Amino acid sequence: MSRSDSPRAADFPIAIIGAGFGGIGMAIQLKRAGIHSFTVFERADEVGGTWRDNTYPGAACDVPSHVYSFSFEPNPRWSRVFAESQEIQAYLLGVVEKWKLRSHIRFGTEIADARFDEAAGRWTLTAGSGETFTARVVVSAVGGLVDPAEPDIKGLSDFGGEVFHTARWNHDYDLTGRNVAVIGTGASAVQVVPSIAPQVAKLSVFQRTPAWVMPKRDRRYSERARRRYERFPLALRASRFAQYALSELFGPIVFLDAPRLSGWAERLSGAHLKRSVPDRALRAKLRPDFQLGCKRILISDDYWSSFARDNVELVTNPIEQVGHEGIQCRDGSRHDVDVIVLATGFAVGLAAAPFPVQGRGGRTLDEAWAGGAVAYKGMTVSGFPNWFTLMGPNTGPGHTSVLVYTEAQISHALQAIRKIRREGLRFVDVRQEVQDRYNDRLQRRMPYMVWSSGCNSWYLSEDGSNHALYPGFAAEYVLGARRFRASDYEIVKA
Ligand code: NAP
Repeated sequence: MSRSDSPRAADFPIAIIGAGFGGIGMAIQLKRAGIHSFTVFERADEVGGTWRDNTYPGAACDVPSHVYSFSFEPNPRWSRVFAESQEIQAYLLGVVEKWKLRSHIRFGTEIADARFDEAAGRWTLTAGSGETFTARVVVSAVGGLVDPAEPDIKGLSDFGGEVFHTARWNHDYDLTGRNVAVIGTGASAVQVVPSIAPQVAKLSVFQRTPAWVMPKRDRRYSERARRRYERFPLALRASRFAQYALSELFGPIVFLDAPRLSGWAERLSGAHLKRSVPDRALRAKLRPDFQLGCKRILISDDYWSSFARDNVELVTNPIEQVGHEGIQCRDGSRHDVDVIVLATGFAVGLAAAPFPVQGRGGRTLDEAWAGGAVAYKGMTVSGFPNWFTLMGPNTGPGHTSVLVYTEAQISHALQAIRKIRREGLRFVDVRQEVQDRYNDRLQRRMPYMVWSSGCNSWYLSEDGSNHALYPGFAAEYVLGARRFRASDYEIVKA
């Protein structure tokens, strides 16, 4: 126990669920605050979340690394502006070692159920194995885009070749000289397609909806630049701030339903398409017909130009079914392949209970969210005391680093934890009217946001409502969310 850990701390178990960016960030900030009585529950056998799982060729972050890393753990040694998956994972492993977090992590432990005991002010967490744990505070950091979405394609299980999802890449399978199908043209596909195209015999890319693509303009940081960032932390901070400020500046293009702004960006993207694909007919198939920003804007310098290669074909006929030899389209055409890569995205967890969670009075989170997932600042839900969600409902950004939001949430949760410990509170529970007011304001903005302009995307729930993205600038969210305001909460003494 450290000096700042009070005697009560031993009796103040904190559970963090998930050892991805969110969970690791929370754990570091607890340690920095001198709070050591926490356990991180991780279902896998390593930390990293997204960056542990997404190891497909070309996997990289499409947000610049200086801002896609913790502000409290800056890394002057990023090798390039947009770091690749392996380097991000190495960064996370590094901070875990630096902060000696491994002894706090229970690997292979999937929390499957959580129940709150109001009289005791404690959560009981039950793992899939049946083992139970108690916690005074729970920080749910399970991530929003984790479990691969299995596409509903007839006959997929009958395919005689190899099938794998981008987030579960089979590195034992050598693609060299193979005929490969990639299904999907989202953020994962634009990275994997140019990476494997030179290696395979033939690559057929099955596009259901084309995507707007912007130039990436990635570059390596020279050794000199990296040394400068090491020697002058202020220069690193300035770079981080510049990357963040730029994303905010262009934010309205990405999130507002403003056709003139979108039109300007569409022309930029259109010019990129023209430079990349000389064939006019092919260009027409690759050009989206929805407003830019409605779906996630992709960035790549070499995705579109991959289609100029002789061994890459774009298939726009809808998939009818998969047979033993390959994929059959609705027009009757057949594409026999050795392997099918599913770049079909994720089951979106931003807006749903990750597992049964029972709060005050036996009410479940699924019941509370029957009309759509809502939380106060995306973090706390009335009736579920001492429970803080990182990357919860309406906290996803389309235009900047998710970590800007996550750090604000960590700060909010940390302040709450300190107050509960310091004052020996039984629990804090966000007031229903505060939560409702916050969400009414948020939802009133949605009609003005571009992702409501008439396309399909993982941003929207089945009823067309948006419980995933934050409708505004990150700065506004951060200023509102990073402080824990006790008056927003029902404070219950022990
Ligand atoms: P995604 O954006 O959801 O794209 C899935 C693709 O699969 C879409 O093109 C979709 O078509 C297609 N698809 C799904 N089911 C299909 C079916 N049954 N038949 C044919 N096509 C089907 O998934 P993702 O590319 O994995 O990206 C998901 C999110 O992860 C991104 O939006 C981003 O937030 C994150 N991500 C980030 C990075 C990064 O660099 N930071 C990299 C990868 C992913 P429709 O468009 O028609 O639905």
